[in-house]
Amino acid sequence: MSVFKLDNVEDLYEIREVLGSGHFGQVREVCERATGVLWAGKFLKLQRGAGSRLGLERASVEKEVEILKSLQHHNIMAIRDVFESKAEVVLIVELIRGGELFDFIAEKESLSESEAIEFLKQILKGVSFMHNKHIGHFDLKPENIMLSDKRGPHPDIKIIDFGMAHCFLQGEDYKSMGGTPQYIAPEIINYEPLSTAADMWSIGVITYILLSGLSPFQGDTNEETLKNILDMKYQFEPHFFSLTSSMAKDFIQKLLVKEQSKRMTADECLIHPWIKPLNQTQMAKRNRSSINMKNFKMFNARRKWKMSYNMVSACNRLSKLKLVCKTSALEKTELRDCESDQEDTQTKTTSLLRRRLSNSS
Ligand code: ATP
Repeated sequence: MSVFKLDNVEDLYEIREVLGSGHFGQVREVCERATGVLWAGKFLKLQRGAGSRLGLERASVEKEVEILKSLQHHNIMAIRDVFESKAEVVLIVELIRGGELFDFIAEKESLSESEAIEFLKQILKGVSFMHNKHIGHFDLKPENIMLSDKRGPHPDIKIIDFGMAHCFLQGEDYKSMGGTPQYIAPEIINYEPLSTAADMWSIGVITYILLSGLSPFQGDTNEETLKNILDMKYQFEPHFFSLTSSMAKDFIQKLLVKEQSKRMTADECLIHPWIKPLNQTQMAKRNRSSINMKNFKMFNARRKWKMSYNMVSACNRLSKLKLVCKTSALEKTELRDCESDQEDTQTKTTSLLRRRLSNSS
């Protein structure tokens, strides 16, 4: 079992504003008292006891920390330190100031495929680095692709949230049900042994959305989305892909492949002619094509709306929880986030996947 630092994190870091929140806690800006340097602190609630419904098992926090420590790459969020108390673990990580890539793009008037590729290349470099270390992320989606700092002309990509990541041992069969319906690969829905190829499927979905503002498998319900994925039901609707190059479509088609071993790897993507043109003609085609900005902006606005809707309903449920807990004198910190409610949401997704599994078997 790894031992994290037992010091009180607040003695060493001043805890500042909330930057974001996840299923099991919050991410806050923190300032190192000794140096004045800013970092981000990821506060993760631990399970109170075996079988508790709330909080994370210590083993999964250890897994996330071990994986992050082994991934020192320019396009992957760096970890600096880890503290623990009885109730929570705090990861001190690199502060990422530029927000989400999709929000950055949605603010632009236009974006050529070549410009979009500069971002995609960095995502692929980070993913190639982790895959070459036999680590799969398993939760690649727009929310987990951030920018170091959006003020410069060429902001750097930072991949975050390794809470679902897994490091494969040789010959290991690893299965997992987690993920976000829109982005998950068919093998996850079918509960088959996974490989790093599942991330490449997600990159195919992300690229499809980036170019068109459409989500390839999105149905009216999560179940419909999962079914569309299993049926491989997607197409390049001419109306939305009129500005897209044929090389870009070829790139996506080589990622949205049902059979894991036939999907392009991150290293293969990096030498695909759309990413690395072989000649001037290919380069020119790329420069002439652009992303469907109007539709992309609409997609992003809907995505943000859904995220805030989920947050508001989680916090409404938290208010009810507070009422119930008033008499039991819960400590203030225990109510700092909406973990119980967020956990509910995750359970729903999982049970949905299980239902899908039993339907398809
Ligand atoms: P999930 O429940 O989605 O798995 P999580 O609890 O693992 O989430 P993260 O996804 O790592 O938490 O972080 C939650 C949010 O906090 C992110 O979406 C992002 O907005 C913000 N965030 C995370 N890490 C950083 C960072 N290093 N710098 C700035 N903001 C961050």
